[in-house]
Amino acid sequence: DSSSAAAKSEVQGENKPADEDDKDDKAAQSLLNKLIRNNLVSNTNQVEVLQKDPNSPLYSVKSFEELRLKPQLLQGVYGMGFNRPSKIQETALPMMLAEPPQNLIAQSQSGTGKTAAFVLAMLSHVDPNNRFPQCLCVSPTYELALQTGKVIEQMGKHYNEVKLVYAIRGNKLPRGTMLQEQIVIGTPGTMLDWCGKFKFIDPKKIKVFVLDEADVMIATQGHQDQSIRIQRMLPKNCQMLLFSATFEETVWNFAQRIVPEPNIIKLKREEETLDTIKQYYVLCNCREEKFHALCNIYGAITIAQAMVFCHTRKTAGWLAGELSREGHQVALLSGEMQVEQRAAVIDRFREGKEKVLVTTNVCARGIDVEQVSVVINFDLPVDKDGNPDNETYLHRIGRTGRFGKRGLAINMVDSKMSMNILNRIQEHFSKKIEKLNTDDLDEIE
Ligand code: ADP
Repeated sequence: DSSSAAAKSEVQGENKPADEDDKDDKAAQSLLNKLIRNNLVSNTNQVEVLQKDPNSPLYSVKSFEELRLKPQLLQGVYGMGFNRPSKIQETALPMMLAEPPQNLIAQSQSGTGKTAAFVLAMLSHVDPNNRFPQCLCVSPTYELALQTGKVIEQMGKHYNEVKLVYAIRGNKLPRGTMLQEQIVIGTPGTMLDWCGKFKFIDPKKIKVFVLDEADVMIATQGHQDQSIRIQRMLPKNCQMLLFSATFEETVWNFAQRIVPEPNIIKLKREEETLDTIKQYYVLCNCREEKFHALCNIYGAITIAQAMVFCHTRKTAGWLAGELSREGHQVALLSGEMQVEQRAAVIDRFREGKEKVLVTTNVCARGIDVEQVSVVINFDLPVDKDGNPDNETYLHRIGRTGRFGKRGLAINMVDSKMSMNILNRIQEHFSKKIEKLNTDDLDEIE
């Protein structure tokens, strides 16, 4: 029966390296980021701007007042607690609000204010007296669309005339419906049907087209084509806006098909460094020994909060169990949890309700918990071919210049193979990883 089949696949999933099954889960990762983020990511890099017309002056604003927003919108912005535009908003907002409308491709890591920026642009461009769709926004999943919808509602709180509708699979409308809402947000397939097959939307009346999370979008078969088909129905003078957290070649190719004559804004993510990190390794023979070493470390030094990384869900689950049996307050973050559950676990950890967070790779990717002073690699990060995953290593323990507090990283080695991995990581970063004797831990305090 289906329940035992599900149980079986669950068991199989446990032993898989965590990044395998989560690979197609970019959308979940992105949603998780949104759920746990309640402020801007700091970034000290400069934005790079490539203007469609290099001779036109480049405006950037330091305040929301300079944008001459409708009073209701300015009230909405301040109501959300925003005091000044974020770095990407400083340049993106004047471009998006210019007359005539400018097309834009913008890339910056999650948490830098892209969503808030295009929501403000959409709300500024709609004419509330016109009772038909004027802005379309496509997102890769229903959940992500919903998150953007929430931002529209918050920012438009004092602008009641503007209405919003979700073009998502579950939302079935009677034939012949002509939508009256000014903003339509949804997934590409349903949006395409509503514009084409069902004609709930007249695409010729659209003034702003937003494509959010382009990198997540292209990871799903079909979304790319559907988005391009929607785009082709829109009038020539429709403003096209595309946003992405990352920018590989594939994203770039797609972006250029969606956005003609674009202005381009990029904000590089802050570099991470190992300079302020003390790195150690502990030599063990098996997983039980690693566990005992971990307990010794815990007994010997005062650790405010630690994150412990494991390769598989199964190890993570086992370790969390053993640690709580020893009386530690442990939180477990695991791939089979719903995104909302994961966000709740991370929130509790951030508030300090638990002192240890045991997790697999993927679950913790892109999450920065600033107060974590100790990172323990219970398993070293390797890619699917068993080679050292240097990028993940850096990301787990590295700090950005901004939060360059001293940190401690402890790597557990339990075989010749993992010793080899450790050596290669050490070589890669040209930074010594010291051997730690867990029977004599004075040196690390
Ligand atoms: P992105 O779309 O790049 O992931 P968001 O627009 O979701 O970024 O912004 C990330 C977080 O920062 C959100 O909690 C948002 O409310 C907040 N935020 C956005 N712009 C500003 C701003 N100008 N000032 C303060 N907080 C902001």
